[in-house]
Amino acid sequence: MAGPEIERLIQLMARLPGLGPRSARRAVLHLLKKKDALLLPLAASLREVGESIHACSTCGNLDTGNPCAICADPRRDETLLCVVEGVADLWALERSGMFRGRYHVLGGTLSALDGIGPGDLNVDSLIGRVAQGRIREVIIATNATVEGQTTAHYITDRLQSSGVTITRLAHGVPVGGELDYLDDGTLGAALKARRPL
Ligand code: ZN
Repeated sequence: MAGPEIERLIQLMARLPGLGPRSARRAVLHLLKKKDALLLPLAASLREVGESIHACSTCGNLDTGNPCAICADPRRDETLLCVVEGVADLWALERSGMFRGRYHVLGGTLSALDGIGPGDLNVDSLIGRVAQGRIREVIIATNATVEGQTTAHYITDRLQSSGVTITRLAHGVPVGGELDYLDDGTLGAALKARRPL
């Protein structure tokens, strides 16, 4: 049906979340038809981002600069730190526009089942940031899943002796709910109604 180069493109696209082989095929055909308007700009953009993307050495956010744009922004409140599981959660909170502090990306949750322990997450770097003394409040915004709650409790224990205020997202986050799927208003309300742990 198509040459090996195009087949390879379809196979790669099919590995994207939300795209199966069928929709990948449709997307690639669309790209081929819109060579100048879409295919070439997309290829250039992928290369540009691919060559400069990395995890921020401070917070773990993915960005083209290090420190990332959020860590480098002097207008953001450095006394307020929001701990999230992944970059998708950070993006969700940023979309809500309600949070003007900084972040710490754990890179997952504790899971005995999957063999993920504290050493596999960015916990030590979090303890290190808090130990520097400028952070006043740590908001734990892990998902309302069993793993998310377990992780929240573990972090709370680790931070207990630091004297920092620890809060947790409150109302609006359904049990089992993932931040990335909440609407911006719900997420904003949950952030506003956070409570001490
Ligand atoms: Zn950062």
